[in-house]
Amino acid sequence: MRPEILFPLFAPSTALKGVGPKVAPLVERAAGPLVRDVLFLAPQSLIERRLAKVEEAREGEVQIFAVTIDAHLPPGRSSHPYRIRAADETGFIFLSWFKGYGPHLLRQHPVGSQRAISGKVELFNIERQIAHADYILPIEQIAEIPPIEPVYPTTAGLPPRSLSKLVLEALAKAPDLPEWQDPAWLAKQQWPSWREAMAQLHAPQSLYDLAPLSPARRRLAYDELLAHQLAMAQRKAVNRSEAAPVIPPSALAAQLEGKLPFSLTGAQIRSLGELRADLGSGQRMSRIVQGDVGSGKTVVAMLAMADVAALGRQSALMAPTEILARQHFETIADNLESIGVSTILLTGRDKGAARSAKLAAIASGEARVVVGTHALFQDEVRFDALSLAIIDEQHRFGVSERRRLQGKGEAVHMLALSATPIPRTLELTVFGDLDVSRLDEKPPGRKPVITNAAPTTRLDQAVERLRAAVAGGAQAFWICPLVAESDLLDVTAAEVRAAALTDALGDAVGLIHGKLAPAEKDRVMAAFAEGRIGVLVATTVVEVGVNVPRASIMVIEHAERFGLAQLHQLRGRVGRGSAQSACLLLYDPPLSQTAQARMEILRETEDGFLIAEKDLELRGGGDLMGLKQSGFPAYRFADPAAHRDLLMAAADDARLILARDPALASLRGKAVQVLQHLFDWRAAEGWAAAG
Ligand code: ADP
Ligand code: MG
Repeated sequence: MRPEILFPLFAPSTALKGVGPKVAPLVERAAGPLVRDVLFLAPQSLIERRLAKVEEAREGEVQIFAVTIDAHLPPGRSSHPYRIRAADETGFIFLSWFKGYGPHLLRQHPVGSQRAISGKVELFNIERQIAHADYILPIEQIAEIPPIEPVYPTTAGLPPRSLSKLVLEALAKAPDLPEWQDPAWLAKQQWPSWREAMAQLHAPQSLYDLAPLSPARRRLAYDELLAHQLAMAQRKAVNRSEAAPVIPPSALAAQLEGKLPFSLTGAQIRSLGELRADLGSGQRMSRIVQGDVGSGKTVVAMLAMADVAALGRQSALMAPTEILARQHFETIADNLESIGVSTILLTGRDKGAARSAKLAAIASGEARVVVGTHALFQDEVRFDALSLAIIDEQHRFGVSERRRLQGKGEAVHMLALSATPIPRTLELTVFGDLDVSRLDEKPPGRKPVITNAAPTTRLDQAVERLRAAVAGGAQAFWICPLVAESDLLDVTAAEVRAAALTDALGDAVGLIHGKLAPAEKDRVMAAFAEGRIGVLVATTVVEVGVNVPRASIMVIEHAERFGLAQLHQLRGRVGRGSAQSACLLLYDPPLSQTAQARMEILRETEDGFLIAEKDLELRGGGDLMGLKQSGFPAYRFADPAAHRDLLMAAADDARLILARDPALASLRGKAVQVLQHLFDWRAAEGWAAAG
């Protein structure tokens, strides 16, 4: 139950003066539905106002002038602005308004009255003007014009000044809250109290106060991270407390391992060991295995499924797309069948009698391993004894979907696979409620992918080289990026490129994109996989997981539009076979510094974990690149790059608090509960709910 002290903050924004049913939706868009959300809206910049003489008026600056109203100049035509001429001893300045302000302005600011005015100065030739002045006050009130004013990210229809007022009102409603932070830590950091930090947030004195490193911002970021870490730690404890079947390492899995044409890498052995320790613990597993594409995650998962099958129990492996599900199936089915583990594929395309037969095999337990897509969530899919659910690219699934799969058995062990490596410093944030295994070692014998960048002006040369390579039997991906936000435009761009390449290279060119019918996609993928297509033009549908070992060339058009993590993922499609592979990053010059840095990093390394760290370092303000995509929570105050140090501290703190006082019953525990309610991170969200 929400503590009473927070009630004023959890009132709807209509509790603020000036917010009625009309304005509330605007406030919701800018901040959120609650008074708390308005309070939490951090200023993104500030206006500094300086008192000046009119002759010192500077284009684009916000200044304050002490003037006398000199004349009212009503517009000759309705499309023209209403203007007031004002002056000080150094010159004239015009105040202007569009639309019907006349009589009212004349009454309020008669000729001869002295006014303090402020607003952004515009210069037209020699004429100085302020359109829609922020302030026009009687001269005695000049001190009421704030010399520094925070600017909030607002939304159309809600003037910035109205929003500022609402924020101040929300601040006035903010109570003093009991201190939840450890007093010694607070003193060491020299942070203000929560209430004081909120006040400072909304009263920046300089740009420094807006920076993530200012004490108020750090305090608030820490509060937020602590609330989140507490929720994660609680969730993890709940997960752990659930009894689950003990699944020991099996002879069957050993047999399967013996049949593999390679031996496991050190990282695979370690990860499999971690997995097996969970499976054998009698408690429910919640683990994620992170590793680059090709690092051997599927193989590890397959061995765990063999352990489960050895007990007569079932596993489900779920992939976000049809193509991926099919590929997983192809990778593991023969292997598992070879040791007598019946494996089936269930996708949305299974219909009629074939589907019924598969459902029956799942329900009877005859199918020990089921690979599939979202189709696995459907109510008709019933398992006999589901004990292990494996989710590939878990961030592509919603919490409720994961829960539904888990609900298809009792105390189902959960394993996630992710090809989007998260830097270690962020693991706690993204996967705080999971145990993490890292496949940070590639299977031996892979040749590095030669990576180069070139401007699009050299596209013709690139096509020439491609022609030669394809003539020599090579196969290539050609990736066309997201154009704007529209799938349709993407498709058009890909179609245009495919046509141009067909002109240049003949009919060895194929095209695949998100709008193709599933069967058509399969047909094209199969043709490419079998070598009947030389160049596969694709939108980013090939991004995750697609395995065509024969393909050795990756061309990425408009590489500057992709984030580092995404480029890395795309490049990971090649370099999987024995041939030397190459990746060409075509970019539209000029490159931004960040884009240039991204390409340099890609040329230097293929280590996904290292690339993820660099990605984090390069991240500019607000640019989340791969992070959001990988389930990074939407923090209000915390910045994953700038507050990295606080992340670790908050995680430790959360653990300590819960170890000492699991029920949060002590005085500090009660304060901590207030914190949790304040931020609303719900402990009950369940498995890996960070996304
Ligand atoms: P991921 O799922 O991480 O992309 P996979 O498990 O699909 O990786 O493995 C990628 C490819 O590497 C597969 O063809 C697999 O057979 C092969 N592979 C996996 N582990 C090893 C290993 N230890 N040594 C050699 N090849 C391996
Ligand atoms: Mg894989």
